[in-house]
Amino acid sequence: MLNKTNNNKHSDVKDTKNVSSWTFKEKLFCVTALLIVSVCMLMERAGYKNREIKETESYGVNNSLSGTENKKTAFLTFDDGPSTLTASYLDILKEEGAKATFFIIGQQVDDDMSRIINREIDEGHEIGIHTYCHEANVIYATEDSCYKDVMKIKDQLERQFNYEAKLVRFPWGSANGYISPFRANIIDRIHKSGLEYEDWNVSAEDSVGTPTVDSILNNVRKDYKKYDEPVILMHDSGCNKKTLEALRTIIRELKADGYSFGTLSERENPCHFLE
Ligand SMILES: [Zn+2]
Repeated sequence: MLNKTNNNKHSDVKDTKNVSSWTFKEKLFCVTALLIVSVCMLMERAGYKNREIKETESYGVNNSLSGTENKKTAFLTFDDGPSTLTASYLDILKEEGAKATFFIIGQQVDDDMSRIINREIDEGHEIGIHTYCHEANVIYATEDSCYKDVMKIKDQLERQFNYEAKLVRFPWGSANGYISPFRANIIDRIHKSGLEYEDWNVSAEDSVGTPTVDSILNNVRKDYKKYDEPVILMHDSGCNKKTLEALRTIIRELKADGYSFGTLSERENPCHFLE
């Protein structure tokens, strides 16, 4: 009985030794396995990081794989139309599936140009008020003359096209020297008429000096990436052939950078030089 007990004890000790020995092996196995898994995870993580960096380089800083990218919408705007080039602008916009906003000059809207305005509306673009006459000394002579210039084209759009304009872009922008004596008052009257005014934060500089396709592209490139909602100023005056030549590239580069396109009244906030 005693022997049996001793034997049992001996056997227990032996078993304990065996268990202890297996545990050590198991521990060794577990530690090795953990090391392998950790190394694999680190390698996988490094590969993921590399992919993330490559994607960021290809598509822009806000377009990482992290899932936190912002929605980016570009607003292409054309002042001074309609013109002999507008149909070509519209062809490119249609082919590229991009929407734009046209700030028009009222006195240029003859029968031919009426068809262009109707096409702009039919194809989902926005029409904004630029000016009726685009002559600084007439528009900005007084607060009243400025208001009348805006209202003249607003009425024209309603009467002739059954179109209710929402936006105004003052010639030379809302911070120009002509408007400064009555700036606050005219903006107040514009707002009371149910209109909003819009400036821009990116300029193609295509109506200054002698623009080239490269100068236009570079002017747009240097600024649009600063904004999730760039408002890009271009012109549709009939002598802006270089803008027309640059337009498709501008649209494609914005697309490659993750931007979609909207009409300006869809923008979350109006774009103002001064607030
Ligand atoms: Zn203009």
